[in-house]
Order: sequence, then structure tokens, then C-alpha cells
Amino acid sequence: MELDSKCPTGPIETRWDRHRFSLKLVNPANKRKHTILVVGTGLAGGSAAASLAELGYNVKCFCFQDSPRRAHSIAAQGGINAAKNYHNDGDSVYRLFYDTVKGGDFRARESNVYRLAQISLNIIDQCVAQGVPFAREYSGYLDNRSFGGAQVSRTFYARGQTGQQLLLGAYQALERQIGAGTVEMFPRTEMLDLIVIDGHARGIVTRNLMTGRIESHLGDAVVLGTGGYGNVYYLSTNAKGSNATAIWRAHKRGALFANPCFTQIHPTCIPVSGDYQSKLTLMSESLRNDGRVWVPAKTGDTRPASQIPEDERDYYLERRYPSFGNLVPRDVASRNAKTVCDEGRGVGETKLAVYLDFRDAIDRLGKHTIKERYGNLFDMYERIAGEDPYQAPMRIYPAIHYTMGGLWVDYNLMSTIPGLYVIGEANFSDHGANRLGASALMQGLADGYFVLPNTINDYLATSKLEKADTSHAAVRDAEEQVVQTTSKLLHNKGTRSVDSFHRELGKLMWDYCGMSRTAEGLKTALAQIPGLREQYWQEVKVLGSGEELNQSLERAGRVADFFELAELMCLDALERNESCGGHFREEYQTPEGEAARDDAHYSYGAAWEFRGVGERPALHKEPLAFEYVHPAQRSYK
Ligand SMILES: Cc1cc2nc3c(=O)[nH]c(=O)nc-3n(C[C@H](O)[C@H](O)[C@H](O)COP(=O)(O)OP(=O)(O)OC[C@H]3O[C@@H](n4cnc5c(N)ncnc54)[C@H](O)[C@@H]3O)c2cc1C
Repeated sequence: MELDSKCPTGPIETRWDRHRFSLKLVNPANKRKHTILVVGTGLAGGSAAASLAELGYNVKCFCFQDSPRRAHSIAAQGGINAAKNYHNDGDSVYRLFYDTVKGGDFRARESNVYRLAQISLNIIDQCVAQGVPFAREYSGYLDNRSFGGAQVSRTFYARGQTGQQLLLGAYQALERQIGAGTVEMFPRTEMLDLIVIDGHARGIVTRNLMTGRIESHLGDAVVLGTGGYGNVYYLSTNAKGSNATAIWRAHKRGALFANPCFTQIHPTCIPVSGDYQSKLTLMSESLRNDGRVWVPAKTGDTRPASQIPEDERDYYLERRYPSFGNLVPRDVASRNAKTVCDEGRGVGETKLAVYLDFRDAIDRLGKHTIKERYGNLFDMYERIAGEDPYQAPMRIYPAIHYTMGGLWVDYNLMSTIPGLYVIGEANFSDHGANRLGASALMQGLADGYFVLPNTINDYLATSKLEKADTSHAAVRDAEEQVVQTTSKLLHNKGTRSVDSFHRELGKLMWDYCGMSRTAEGLKTALAQIPGLREQYWQEVKVLGSGEELNQSLERAGRVADFFELAELMCLDALERNESCGGHFREEYQTPEGEAARDDAHYSYGAAWEFRGVGERPALHKEPLAFEYVHPAQRSYK
């Protein structure tokens, strides 16, 4: 299969404009004749559904929550990047582009990243116009703070609730269209399969989560904005409901899955505290603007933080990376936390934690200012950890947070199935092997508000789509498969809970395909996952029935997909014999312990084709070319 990225060529500054001009339009009267199915109401799906409806298309929009405004995007804390250069501190579209390509360890497409940096400016204007209450300075200008991997302040924020405020903006825009009758909203509805007719994505099969009713919806294009798959690890900072089912089932219908092993481990999360924990909590990266990360200089030092004198503390990020200090990118900060803990210098009961200390910032700025900046995060920490972070340093440890992998898409955001578009965290994105903080919200909104509404017209204007109806064999077949899988799960005579399997899979993934990976460990995981998957289908027990709200059943289907996806992630990680960004293979590191890329052999996007459960998928490679930011060893020293 030839992967055509459709990336424009020529001067990078004008690629998007020239490309947009080359795309065909659909005239306003004809837009009304098209129906677009949008799955997801997070920042990506919500903004796309609202924008497509505003353009004049009929939109059907789906989410599994009871309201579109409960999508996982609501949890985003720290902020959203944009190259506005309000601080006049040297920022520019080009610098955001440069930082993102470098931060992603040279595993993203330059054309996409440049477009993202350009559009970042429009996003802020649009959100302000919607009334999103970004933090402001005394002068009235929007305030900015810094995030990892950048030496400028370009992160716009609304306290520690940026995702919530942005989502309320997108949700209002969506509600307006629902009110106008241009969007038909289906909450509590889960997409369980993709309908492909004559090679084109034409619909989805859904299950009503309240009644169990299985239904098909047909249209002219399908958009997936269904979020990331970090919950394959069981413990992650993602919302409990976040899952891979929509993209995985589309993958099984022919959409290639790219870079599945590129996962992001966030350095500042509240550490795991026991075997029965089901969720990890993020402490936003914004805290590293003022918090200093340290561990005791000596191994086995059990004194409380307050009794460890200054010269016996190791501010290891400031020591090793003097230019970026505590604001090194996430992959670098996470790996260093692991290293100091592996050396026996971790703190707290489990010794799997490092300190994030605000003592100096409080002395310098006063408690009031710190409270104003991070008050809700400090309260959240105190409620969970039982310690007052104004008095004692926070204890933090890396945790699974974000997935850079996802369905492969071209420059138009179309997958390898014509008519199937993938946006936001669900696609394999512009972040390469490591996403910079505050860039996911930027990408989701860029895709939904600005890119897709331009590119989808071209497909609709140029495709000859026959009218499809629900009697079509492809519809019947997809529905039948959904009915069978649901029934199999409900009637299985096993004895083990879905969660017990999920926890076991998650531990396997964390141990062998987590923060650091080895060929041997990945082979171990690949040897164990199929057996565990078989066992799952033999021994899982799903309580309740299919005709009522049954969250055990919902989870059972999602965990079944996680088993298959986990295998692909390990295979991808094993195949990539290099370290880059969040993918750290212990065999490939520099003498200083940094990731060692192998550009000669691995400068490509790995796009996998499904060949059957348990069958080896086929690997297709999209070569990456760097004309502007030349690949070099990333240095934050
Ligand atoms: C705790 C936390 C804090 C974060 N903070 C930041 C931050 O400060 N800045 C930043 O840039 N990024 C941040 N991120 C990352 C960012 O929040 C996400 O990447 C982003 O919100 C994903 O948006 P999305 O629209 O792609 O998906 P989501 O917001 O996850 O939305 C997915 C949508 O798809 C629907 N859906 C999924 N599957 C199905 C299905 N099968 N059927 C029907 N509907 C389905 C869901 O109902 C939901 O509506 C954070 C992430 C976490 C976990």
C-alpha cells in the first residue's frame, strides 16, 4: 500500500494557504444535502461538529457520556499553546514549529506542524470571541506561562481548568447548532463498528447505553474525535471511560494504525499508592514554572524534606539541564525521575517519588500569588495525598498520560479509508514521538475548528457516493458482529471480573512497554498477551443484562479491544530499534542516558495494517523529510 501524505511542497509558510486554495468547495445549497457523522464531543469532536454544522452540513454527533460537555477534554488543566508573542520574549510561528518538531524528536511531519503553529493564533482569537475566560494580566492582555520544551511563555490558561473552559466554549457552539436543528446529538451512545461500503466510510453501528438498542447511522463521511488510548495501561491520568474502541474497530475495517508505541509518560502525577487504585491524578506541568524538582543527594536518606539541608539536595533537572532546568520536556523529565528512583534516591513510602517543591517560590512571590496560580491543583493534591503542599513539597512520579500514536491520517486528516477522518488525540498527530505540554488542546481545536472544515469539502465535492441504506449487506454484517460480540460477553460463563484482567494487562504493559523498553521485555509481553487474551474470552464474567445501563458490559468490550491493541503496541516498540521521545529502548541510549535515535533506519511513521486477530499485521512506512528543522541530537542542556 502506498501511503500518500498529500503534504504540499514549496515554501513552508504558504503550504496551507496554497493547499486550501487547491481544494474543491461545496456550495452552500449543496452542503444541506450531506450528512456527516461526528463521533466524539471533546475539544476535537465538539469543535468539528459545531463548525461543520455552522458551514451548513447536517451533522449527527455521538458521545458515550450523558452530556457532550463531559468529554475527557474537560480534565485538561494547564493550558493551550499559541505563538502570539504577547510577552515579546522571542516567540514566533517559526519558533513554535521548531520547538514542536524538535520536542517530538523528529518523528512528525514538518508540513503538519507548521500549519498547527500558524493556526494556534486563530484558536486563541476564536476562543476569546466565544468568551473563554483566559487568565489576564493587570493590563488586560491575556496572560501566558511556560511549559516544557520551550524557553518562551506561550501557554494561555484559565487557572488549572483550561480544558473545562475551552470545552464549555466548544459546547456552547455545539449547543447552538443543536438548537438550530443542524446537529442531532446522541449522548450515551457508543460507536461499536464502522460501516464501509464500496471502500468508503459510510456509517457507524452504535449501541444505546441506556437501552442496549443497536442501530446503524449512515452518512457521507465519518469523523472520529474519540480521544487517546492511554487506559490500555489500566492506570493512567485519563478519564476512566477513555478507550480505543472506535479507532480500533475502524482499524479492523481497514484504517492503518500509526506509531502505536509512542506513548507519553507525564512526569508530575500523584504516585501510585496501592494495589486497588484505579486512577492516577495529574499535577499539571504548569507547576514546573514555580516548583523545583529534587531528591536527596544521598541514597537511602529517610529524613523528611524539611530536615534535609540545601547542600544535601539534588535539584537534578537544574543540574543536568541548566538551560531548560525544571522545564525540560516530559520525556526527559520522566526518564530522569525514574533514574534517580532506580538509584535509590526516591522519596516517600514506596521510594517511587521525587519532590516538587514550592518553598522558594512561596518565599519569593508569597502564598497568595501561588494560590492564585495553582490553588485548585494544590487543593486537589491535599485531598488525595493528605499533605499540605504549601507546607511540604509535593511527591510526584511519572504516569501514563497521552498517546501520540493513533489512526494514520494524511494532511487532510483523512485515514486510509476514504471518507473516514480522524481528529484530535485519536489520530497519529503532529507531535511525533513526544508531545510538548499544552499542545494537545491546540491540535484538537486546530483539527476541529480550522483544518477539517476546510479539507472535508474536497472529499464531498469530488466523491461520487451512491445513496446507502440500512438494508445494505455491509450494514447487516457490521450490526451482526456487534450483536454477536455483545452477546458473547454477556453469556460467558467465566468467574473473573473485567477489571482484574484489565489490571493484569496494564501491569504487563507498564512493565514491558512503559517508561523504558527492551527487546527482551517486549518479547516477553508479546509471548504473554495472546494467552491472557484467550483466557479473557474464556473466563471473563459480565454481570447484568444488555437492555439496561451496564457499565461492566461497556468496559468488557473496551478491554477486549485493549488486548488486541496492546499486542500491536509491543510489536511496534520491538520493531523500532532506536530510542526517540517517549519510546525509550534501553539498548539505544547516549553515554549520558539520553534517547539515541537512528535516523538512517527509522525516520518514518510506522503505519500498521490489520490482518486478523493474532495474525502479524503488515507494516507500511511513511518516510519523513526534514527541510527546515534539521535532525540533531536533542539538547536541553
Ligand atoms: C489530566 C489531563 C490533563 C491534561 N491537560 C492538558 C493541558 O493542560 N493542555 C493540553 O494541551 N493537553 C492536556 N491534556 C491532553 C488533552 O486533554 C487531550 O489530549 C485532549 O483533551 C483530547 O481531546 P479529544 O477531543 O481528542 O478527545 P476527548 O476529550 O477524550 O473526547 C473523546 C470523545 O469521544 C467520545 N467517544 C470515544 N469513544 C467513543 C465511542 N466508541 N462511541 C461514542 N463516542 C465515543 C467520548 O464520549 C468523548 O466525547 C491533558 C490530559 C489529561 C489526561
